[in-house]
Amino acid sequence: MLATSDKRQAADEMAISLKDIYGQSEIIAQLESASRAGRLAHAYLFWGPEGVGKSTLARAVIKGLLCDEAGGLASCGCCPSCRQAEAGSHPDVMIIEPESPAGAIGIEAVRAVQARASLKPFRGTKKVVLVRRADLMTPEASHALLKSLEEPDPGMYWILTARHLRALPATVRSRTQPISVRPLPEEELAAILGGRGMGAGEAQTCARLAEGSVGKALRLCEAGEVKWKNRWIDSFLVDRELLAGSSRRAPWRELEKLERAELEKFLDLFAQWFRDLLVCSESVKGVFPLNGDREDALRSEKARYTHEELIQLIEVVAEGRNLLDRNVNTKVLIGWLEQTISEILCPKSST
Ligand SMILES: [Zn+2]
Repeated sequence: MLATSDKRQAADEMAISLKDIYGQSEIIAQLESASRAGRLAHAYLFWGPEGVGKSTLARAVIKGLLCDEAGGLASCGCCPSCRQAEAGSHPDVMIIEPESPAGAIGIEAVRAVQARASLKPFRGTKKVVLVRRADLMTPEASHALLKSLEEPDPGMYWILTARHLRALPATVRSRTQPISVRPLPEEELAAILGGRGMGAGEAQTCARLAEGSVGKALRLCEAGEVKWKNRWIDSFLVDRELLAGSSRRAPWRELEKLERAELEKFLDLFAQWFRDLLVCSESVKGVFPLNGDREDALRSEKARYTHEELIQLIEVVAEGRNLLDRNVNTKVLIGWLEQTISEILCPKSST
């Protein structure tokens, strides 16, 4: 089952066609040339770190393979096939994915799709199976999938995505065409954002926060994330006393009003902030604060924390983030965070 935010993301990804994908021009050229020459492989494996756009790429290829109107791997976005693909209801697209972000893909999931894949295509002449996070398949599932990859039916395409190439058995890897999808360099991301009208400083910050992911950079850009995060930094994070909960009007109460998704974002910012303080106080060569636009504030705040405190804070926020993923009540979670952080920052008050 997909969480709601994943569903939204999946729909967004389907709305993209190959020509709209930024920064992966070599891969796109390679795929389009294979398609023009009628030499598309029956199985591709897009692999690379989280957030670099493997799924977006895979879904654009799927849409292109099935589009009724546009030639090659292009997709028109308007034909019935494109519309069904975008709505996630295309009868010739099957998806195998882990049941939860950390879950495995078992043999049952592979077998169920193989049974459906053995039927004739419903709409055109092609069928596609997308295996997301193929590196999370159990050995039994990989073994079952191997049969399909070894004896491909005509018109049948398999698109696999994986974060870790080596986590897949060599037998599976050798029967697919692996394509490495790399994070984009910060400058390239900043240039993409600049091209969309963002100021240079803000573009640089978003590019750094996005850690190589175009999708994340664009979302940061569109959602006014930089302003949002800086509001929280200024009203809360730059103030050790507020964090320690020594004021009754502490912004902790503000947090209780946030929707769950926004609270998730806040906790990520919270973790980044303490990580940045640690980075600034240790000045490790080649490691930069994620909130590079707030270096002044970080430099003045870092002296107010010990190394030990920062490590503890990072751990507590990570635990809070875990609890949120496990659907803990948000008020309870905020209360717990406030209490625990207060105990770390003013240990005397807790005795
Ligand atoms: Zn189309």
